[in-house]
Amino acid sequence: MKIPNLIGYHTSSEGTITFQTVNPITDQFHPELFVEATQAEVDRSATLAKGAYRTFSRTSPMERAQFLRAIITELELNKSLLTVTYSRESGLKEQRAEVEFTRTIFQLTSFADLLSQENLEIKHIDLADPNRTPTPKPQLIKYKLGIGPIVIFGASNFPFAYSTVGGDTAAALAAGCPVIVKSHPFHAHTSFLVAKLVVKVAEEHKLPEGVFSHLNATGYEVGQRLVQHPFVQGVGFTGSIKGGLAIQQLAQQRAVPIPVFAEMGSLNPVVILPSALKKESDNIATKLALSITQSSGQFCTKPGALFLVQAVETTHFLETFKTIFEQQASYSMVHPTIARIYTQRAKQVIDQTNVHLFAQGTVTKTCNLGIPQLSITDGHTFDTNKLLQEEVFGPHALLVICKDQLELEQILENIDGQLTFSLFHNEENIEAQNLFFLAQEKAGRVILNGVPTGVEVSPAMQHGGPFPSSSDSRFTAVGTDSIQRFLRGVTVQK
Ligand code: NAP
Repeated sequence: MKIPNLIGYHTSSEGTITFQTVNPITDQFHPELFVEATQAEVDRSATLAKGAYRTFSRTSPMERAQFLRAIITELELNKSLLTVTYSRESGLKEQRAEVEFTRTIFQLTSFADLLSQENLEIKHIDLADPNRTPTPKPQLIKYKLGIGPIVIFGASNFPFAYSTVGGDTAAALAAGCPVIVKSHPFHAHTSFLVAKLVVKVAEEHKLPEGVFSHLNATGYEVGQRLVQHPFVQGVGFTGSIKGGLAIQQLAQQRAVPIPVFAEMGSLNPVVILPSALKKESDNIATKLALSITQSSGQFCTKPGALFLVQAVETTHFLETFKTIFEQQASYSMVHPTIARIYTQRAKQVIDQTNVHLFAQGTVTKTCNLGIPQLSITDGHTFDTNKLLQEEVFGPHALLVICKDQLELEQILENIDGQLTFSLFHNEENIEAQNLFFLAQEKAGRVILNGVPTGVEVSPAMQHGGPFPSSSDSRFTAVGTDSIQRFLRGVTVQK
C-alpha cells in the first residue's frame, strides 16, 4: 500500500522515492510504502499554507480552541489504532504509548483551555489622551498575531508528544499559524494516521485549505527545502544538536532569515553531594538507574553525566549503584540506526583515555538493543575532553569523580548550556549557594533531589535551556508559554 503526502485537503504521491518503516523489535519491514514529497509538492504545501495564513490567523481564539478540541476527539476515537501503530514502529511499550498519548491529549487540551479564556486576543490597550501636554497621546492597542506558516520537525523518540500533533504543532496552531509537518521517517505511519485526522477535522471546520499539511521524507532534502521556502516563516525542531544546528544555519542563510526554535540534546548533569548520600544513598541509586535506562534512555532529559566528589559516602554509593544498574534490562531502541549510533557512541566514550566501563545491564534476545552502560572517569579527564561532554543518546551515563567540591564547581563552570541540572543534596539553604547559582545559569530547569526525566506539562515548565540545548533559551517548548514562539506583537495606533 502506498502512503501519500497530505497537502491541504488532497492526497498526493507524485514522487518516485519510497521508503518503509521497520519494527525495531523484530527487524521486519512494514509493508506500507511512503512516497517522499517532491519539490513541487513542497512548493504546493507552502503556497497553500501562505494562502491559509490570512484567514486562519484571524480566526477567533475560540474557533481555534474548537479546532483543537475536535482533534482531541478524533485522536481518542482512533486511539487503539494509533497506539498499536506507535508501538509497531517504535518498539516502545504499550504503557509508554499510553503515557505519551495522554500527554499529547493534555497538551492540546491546555492550549484549547488557554484559547478559551476571555479577552485573550487583546493583550494591552492604552487609552488616548488628546489633552496630554506637550503632545496628545494616541490610543494604542497591542495584539499578538501568528508569525506565519511553520514547519515542524519531530524527534524519533516521541512519536506522539514531540511529533505530528505534539507540543510544537499544538502551539503553532493555537497561535493561528498554518503547519507543515516534515514527518519523521522512523514513525511515518503513526505520523500519517495522526495527520489524516487533523486534516479531516480542519476540513469539517471549514478552515482554509493548507492550514495543515504532512510530507513524507526519508532524507534531509524535503526538510531543507521547506526551511528555505520563502513562504515559510518559522521552524519548530526537536531532535539532535547536529540536526538542529544544520536547520538553524539554513534558516539564517535565507534572503529573509526566519526563527528556528530548536530543542536539542543535552547532557543533563546530575550532582550528588555526600550530604545527600548520608541520607538516602540507595534510593538515589535506584532513581538514577531507572532514569538512565527507562525507554532505553531515549529521552532528551536522560541524565548523561553524574558528578560526585571523593568521600566515604561516594564509595558506598558506587557499590550499591553498580549492583542496581547491573540488574537493568536492555530493550530495543526506536530504530536500528539509533541502536547502531548508540552502541558506537557509548564505545567511543569508554575507549577514551582514563575512562572505564563501570557497570553494564543485562542483555536480552531482541534486535537493536540499547545495552545499559555506566562508564567512569575523573574530573580532570572530563574537563579536558570535549567528547565526554556530548550527549550519548541511549541508556549510557558517565560517572565523573571529582577530587573535591572546588574541582566539581570549576568543571561545571566550563560545561555547555543544558536542558536540566539536577542537584542531590542535604544542605541548609542550598538556593543561596554557588552550586545552585551555577545550575540556574547553565540550565532551563533545576531539579532538587530528583531526576530530570519526566517533563511536567505546565505553564510553570521551562523546557529549553542555554545553547546548545536550545536555539533560544528565552522560550520553552513545553507548556502553554510555548505559544509565544509563534506569535509577534502588532500595535494598532489610532
Ligand atoms: P534527528 O536525527 O536530529 O532528527 C530529527 C528530525 O530532523 C528528523 O526528521 C530528521 O530527518 C531531521 N534532520 C536531522 N538533521 C537534519 C539535517 N541536517 N537537515 C534536514 N533535516 C534534518 O533526531 P532524532 O534522532 O530523531 O531524535 C533524537 C534526538 O532528539 C536526541 O538528541 C534527543 O535528545 C533529542 N530530543 C530533544 C528533545 C527536546 O525537547 N530537547 C525532545 C526529544 C528528543 P531524517 O530523519 O529524515 O534524517
